[in-house]
Amino acid sequence: MSPLAPRRAIYPGSFDPLTLGHLDIIQRGSALFESLTVGVGTNPEKRAAFTPAERVELIRRVVSPLPNVEVASFDGLTVDFARQCRATVVLRGMRTLSDIEQEFTFTLANRALAPDIETVFLMASERYTHISSTLIKQVALLGGPQVEQQLSGFVPPEIVPALLAKLRPQRP
Ligand code: ADP
Repeated sequence: MSPLAPRRAIYPGSFDPLTLGHLDIIQRGSALFESLTVGVGTNPEKRAAFTPAERVELIRRVVSPLPNVEVASFDGLTVDFARQCRATVVLRGMRTLSDIEQEFTFTLANRALAPDIETVFLMASERYTHISSTLIKQVALLGGPQVEQQLSGFVPPEIVPALLAKLRPQRP
């Protein structure tokens, strides 16, 4: 049996902002593939707090210890971004049943557009299943005096000051 050729993967998403759940998928994905490019996409259905350039910069800071992980933004189709990166795998994370429903449609559409590109799902680690970027933005907006500590349970430490500066600019 011939060995499998090394595979490159992309991990597309909004990452508005990156969470500990996303980081867990990145770390696990980087151990599975020769290289992993985190792709910051622009989802027209979601109103973003951070610009794509800000999100790319924040993710780069967090993933800098991982030598085979790169970060870029894209605004076309996910499969076109995969081709640009010479990747044959699209990596996605899966949290709940509602994620499965949404991912199913997304995967079938991508398969129709590019049958040579495979989508691979990693199940969220149980300790991060409840974490979403939306939840984090609400905590940042509404959290009390302990907000830094509360946020640090959800996002990497590099993201906490950026989140508060963006969503609570008046806070001392
Ligand atoms: P999108 O707008 O593409 O859904 P997100 O930034 O919300 O972008 O998510 C990007 C990917 O990461 C998706 O595959 C999503 O299911 C996955 N994901 C989001 N949160 C988590 C988490 N807490 N644990 C594991 N995977 C997650």
